[in-house]
Amino acid sequence: MRILQVCAEIYPLLKTGGLADVAGALPPALLSLGAEPRVLLPGFASIMAGLQDPAEVARLSPPGAMANAGARLLYGHLPACGIDAYVIDAPGYYLREGGPYADANQHAYVDNHLRFALLGWTAAQLAIGLDPLWRAEVVHAHDWHAALAPAYLAAAAQSQQRHLAGSVYTVHNLAYQGQFDARHFGELGLPAHFFAMHGIEFHGQINFMKAGLYYANRITTVSPTYAREIQGSEQGCGLDGLLRDRANDLSGILNGVDESVWNPAADPALAANYSADKLAGKRRCKAALQQELGLAAAPTAPIFCVVSRLTEQKGLHLVLRALPELVERGAQFALLGSGDAGMEEAFRSAAAENPQAIAVRIGYDEAFAHRLIGGSDVIMVPSRFEPCGLTQLYGLKYGTLPLVRGVGGLTDTVNDSQLETLDVDATGFMFDAFSSEALLQAAARALALYRRPADWKAVQQRAMRQPCGWDAAARAYLGLYAQLIH
Ligand code: ADP
Repeated sequence: MRILQVCAEIYPLLKTGGLADVAGALPPALLSLGAEPRVLLPGFASIMAGLQDPAEVARLSPPGAMANAGARLLYGHLPACGIDAYVIDAPGYYLREGGPYADANQHAYVDNHLRFALLGWTAAQLAIGLDPLWRAEVVHAHDWHAALAPAYLAAAAQSQQRHLAGSVYTVHNLAYQGQFDARHFGELGLPAHFFAMHGIEFHGQINFMKAGLYYANRITTVSPTYAREIQGSEQGCGLDGLLRDRANDLSGILNGVDESVWNPAADPALAANYSADKLAGKRRCKAALQQELGLAAAPTAPIFCVVSRLTEQKGLHLVLRALPELVERGAQFALLGSGDAGMEEAFRSAAAENPQAIAVRIGYDEAFAHRLIGGSDVIMVPSRFEPCGLTQLYGLKYGTLPLVRGVGGLTDTVNDSQLETLDVDATGFMFDAFSSEALLQAAARALALYRRPADWKAVQQRAMRQPCGWDAAARAYLGLYAQLIH
């Protein structure tokens, strides 16, 4: 089965969030199940640098304003990801100072519609015969950056009057839609009638996300609960009507953990390795973390941690408000994150006031994320909404019990610890109301359990032993692809 995975980032070469983790883990999981996946990526500097033995497949002649991109398609191997990849070499589009989507001042690039339309257009060409040696049977596009792939495919199928390939579109976060002024529509080279309510138009604008949702044969999102939530007005970001119309084609497939990257028994970033059967190493990780962060060397003080983008979505102001009481009750707190400047400052000043109990590191640091999760006791994910969430899964795997709000994928992956569930399925702590009081109540239960080491260990071991690899998800995707091929 020839599957083209289309995305803008891939771990470990380029990552801004969970999307990269999925893009890095799903293709190898598909490969190990016997499928023939390849990925298509924009030629950002780190991706070009990671491409081994690149060969030119074709000079690209995209339509509309993209014709000036001077783009060519390369094919090679990405050893860091263990996967073969097509990369669009278009230096004018992708080699820039700043991030993949925005400049160093966080201003979105003004030609993002073209930069990512080229990604979608090229994906469609790979299902039509651009590479004579490999034609995609299914094009699987991820998030708004790749969302025009199903639209270009539908346009080509309409003009050739035949089925070309199946298409799957996965929503990793409905809040980021890729919206652009309508005056750019002509630059995309799509048929004029695609700019319509039944198409890619959304309240008078171009909406890439909507194109994916409208034109893909199947839609998935990254957890069953989020798949339900986005069909309602509260979390539908204006697209819930379309999602309800397409309910029969929409499903939720939970993300997994890439166990070659996140495994406490083999993690080279940790001060000591450990497993559910041998937890002693986790205590050493904790001591090392307290030392690294300048926290009081207190083996019995539970460390609550956060690894997150600092955005409104992640609900971290609830944590800020709860911090004094959490610390008052004997906990320590450590955060790794970056984003909203006001929130960065608020966490920094909380740490400055009480450096023995609160440590804050602003920035993006993959290895430190491992040490932080390895050395902590609880990981907090109090999101307002959460499509799947990965850090709570890493918490489960590392015996760092997740304390989460009961939304989206957090609901699907964590089982609350109540008296009656302790011996049954408890793996963490959950609260519902979006308030610091509700968070503190769950934290109080975590603290109470922590004071009962035998019960804590039992929950910890259950969390660590829970299967959470990519196998189940990869099988589910294969099932979906098979429906589109046969
Ligand atoms: P989202 O994609 O909404 O940011 P996820 O929980 O799905 O949230 O994925 C976040 C990913 O990014 C995880 O792999 C997490 O470890 C990582 N991450 C987030 N912030 C940081 C940071 N400051 N440093 C290192 N890794 C981070």
